[in-house]
Amino acid sequence: MSTNSVEQSKVKSRSETLNRMVEISLLLNSSLSIDAILTQLMDATVEIVHCESASVILMDENTQQLHFVAMPTTDAERSQKLKRIPIPLEKSIAGAIILENKAVVTNDTSQDPRHYSQTDSALGFKTSSLLGVPMRIKNRVIGALEAVNKIGGEWGEKDQHDLEVLASQAAIALENAQLIRKLRNANEELSQLDKLKTDFIAIASHELRTPLGVIMGYASFLKAEAQGELSDHATAVLNSALRMRNLIEDMTNLRFLKLKDIELAIEEVPADDIAQLAGSDVVSMAETRGHSLRILPSDSENLLVNGDRAKLLMALTNILNNAIKFTPERGTIKIRCIERPNEVWIQVKDNGVGIPQEDLTKIFEPFYQVEDHMTRRHGGMGLGLAIAKAVIEVHHGRIWAESPGPNQGSVFTISLPKAHPEDPEALKRITRH
Ligand code: ADP
Repeated sequence: MSTNSVEQSKVKSRSETLNRMVEISLLLNSSLSIDAILTQLMDATVEIVHCESASVILMDENTQQLHFVAMPTTDAERSQKLKRIPIPLEKSIAGAIILENKAVVTNDTSQDPRHYSQTDSALGFKTSSLLGVPMRIKNRVIGALEAVNKIGGEWGEKDQHDLEVLASQAAIALENAQLIRKLRNANEELSQLDKLKTDFIAIASHELRTPLGVIMGYASFLKAEAQGELSDHATAVLNSALRMRNLIEDMTNLRFLKLKDIELAIEEVPADDIAQLAGSDVVSMAETRGHSLRILPSDSENLLVNGDRAKLLMALTNILNNAIKFTPERGTIKIRCIERPNEVWIQVKDNGVGIPQEDLTKIFEPFYQVEDHMTRRHGGMGLGLAIAKAVIEVHHGRIWAESPGPNQGSVFTISLPKAHPEDPEALKRITRH
């Protein structure tokens, strides 16, 4: 072969190696499992630097101890045993690579005093020649990658360079996979805590309801039977108990914040029915505050929506309860259903305290209340609107508030997709999104 063609074939083989390294780098970085990355790294090392096998030794961030995470054996028992043996940082080739942050080449490990031969016997693999490089992320060394027993010839500069590139790519891929694993674990812990909280709330609200029922029963009895001051005391007990029942109700409804569409019992519901039912739910409360509660006739007949009647009713009742609560006595509250292209709007308008512009979207966040919690005059936990929003959004609708300013009232609008009775598929579509 002429010198020229020898050069050409060298260039060709180099460019093939580089291409292969790009492919390997992409493969390593697209993997999210630590085991998959280690297997790919071992295979890539053998392929790129033509060696018999490879090892990956990582340093524990906390204990600073070195441990094998991948090694030249497929024997599961052996590798498990070896993973548990710490490699001395000061008396091993891996330790030297990590401490000095540079490559180590040895063509005869028996002559290298740093070689920690105990692992060879545990492995059943005789390491005679070795090329080890640090695994770095920027300037931080997280471990060492060692190629062992070169097949033919000795380790060259090219081998070292290629292995260093590979080790850096793998270090980043491993760190990413570790971060993702930590994130997944944290997520799992959070879900467990969340479940614990949900179970606690469900049990606590159920347990609170029973004694409250007894209190309310006796208080009503006393109120009816007693005269004068005693009757007033009974009324005070009853009112406080009612307030407490509302709070428990809010606690129970907390689960609706995470409502899923499969939990909906979808049917075609006339929007006016929801308005009428919600209105009658709150009428006595509105009367006690001297409000005028009016359900205005809608401009078109039979405005149908696809939805879960009970849950839509709950959402609208929450809005009405607020309108009653945040409107000074003898106010006016109006409910109206409006037809829109492809949508039906249910609107609640009051002439109460109004809402500052900057709070119009925040009030839909759980526990957000415009008034400071310590000084507020109105009861409630700040959940009603968040629950209403969750219910409406799971119906693929929207909910928003408008207010011209303080003491100028508020308007709450629920927008739901219009049901088309002539399109029976629409009913199913809502749960399929
Ligand atoms: P809660 O009523 O228990 O405080 P909500 O989530 O139902 O919780 O409402 C959140 C906040 O939004 C209320 O605390 C109040 O500040 C404000 N808000 C809701 N509805 C009205 C309304 N109709 N007028 C004025 N403010 C309102």
